[in-house]
Amino acid sequence: MISPRGYNKRILVTGGAGFLGSHLCERLLAAGNDVLCVDNFFTGSRSNVAHLLPNPHFELMRHDVTFPLYVEVDEIYNLACPASPVHYQHDPVQTTKTSVIGAINMLGLAKRLGARIMQASTSEIYGDPAVHPQPEEYWGNVNTIGPRACYDEGKRCAETLFFDYHRQHKLSIKVIRIFNTYGPRMHPNDGRVVSNFIIQALKGEPITIYGDGLQTRSFCYADDLIDGFIRFMATPADVTGPINLGNPGEFTMLELAEKVIRLTGSSSRIEHRPLPQDDPKQRRPDIAKARSLLEWEPKVPLDEGLERTIAYFRGRFFA
Ligand code: NAD
Ligand code: UDP
Ligand code: UDP
Repeated sequence: MISPRGYNKRILVTGGAGFLGSHLCERLLAAGNDVLCVDNFFTGSRSNVAHLLPNPHFELMRHDVTFPLYVEVDEIYNLACPASPVHYQHDPVQTTKTSVIGAINMLGLAKRLGARIMQASTSEIYGDPAVHPQPEEYWGNVNTIGPRACYDEGKRCAETLFFDYHRQHKLSIKVIRIFNTYGPRMHPNDGRVVSNFIIQALKGEPITIYGDGLQTRSFCYADDLIDGFIRFMATPADVTGPINLGNPGEFTMLELAEKVIRLTGSSSRIEHRPLPQDDPKQRRPDIAKARSLLEWEPKVPLDEGLERTIAYFRGRFFA
């Protein structure tokens, strides 16, 4: 519906200057919305959204979501939270605060405004899963006191808050469980496997495989994921999720390393390093719900997505 203000909606994206947030802001603007991007620039940056700054429908605000926020919007996407182990373990207490207090503040804002709110949850709420692939009904296997717990338990508590605000205050909520996603504007130093391997390959440095490299992950290209966000937000109020979004193609880290070496034409060799504590052995989404409720599935194959991501890293850091 077009509002009297002459645009579709005014939409808040927290964490909008991050990797996924910047793609989401872009997509929402292209669809004719006004976008308010709120970010404390912990892992995100102005440069991720610099191309959007001249757009009069885009506004960038430096703000930490652990503090209350009083703005007027029609819809909220809550993405603020460091996402890679290196970043979220840098200040674990702040990570939990961001997930939990950030969720309370954004839910309080949504409640005051009667705004629909989406939460970027994560496959990490499944921990080191004992069920494979992971359907939404699986309750997970998380070490509450391990080094990943600040992220995993923070995100689990945020889900709890979303569902309690939904039940208690009749808020319209959408909870997405995102599986590993990659693409242009990933943080170059976040230690995630795709960015690490690409940068190592482009520098001709050894590709660092943690453990034996037989652990698996499923990698979704950012554009596909953002399609899923938009489709989910547009569903009727009774579709709350949680819904898994990710690419069900499953690869070992050895397979990923070989692909990156081939696609970059690198002469890098593989080196093994110790496996980090609590590193999940297998992860693959069961996306049956996304297929039926959102009519969504990923379209970009891993090789094609890697080529686009390699082109981005080459252009930005190796030109
Ligand atoms: P990112 O680190 O690039 O983005 C997170 C953004 O949040 C950054 O811009 C950061 O500066 C901002 N931020 C952090 N703490 C904040 C705070 N207290 N107040 C305001 N802003 C804050 O990571 P991303 O990959 O774009 O992840 C976005 C969201 O998606 C996160 O919530 C993450 O948990 C979730 N997610 C991502 C993946 C993935 O594979 N990329 C997987 C699962 C879940
Ligand atoms: N809040 C906010 N913006 C708003 C409304 C609320 O940031 O527009 C925050 C505020 O810090 C509040 C929290 O959201 O403490 C939860 O709000 P709620 O109304 O659920 O509970 P309250 O704490 O106000 O009783
Ligand atoms: N990994 C690796 N080499 C690296 C970085 C990561 O082998 O340089 C492994 C890591 O141990 C994990 C997988 O790749 O098994 C995915 O790691 P990432 O940090 O990207 O995501 P997450 O563990 O959160 O799924």
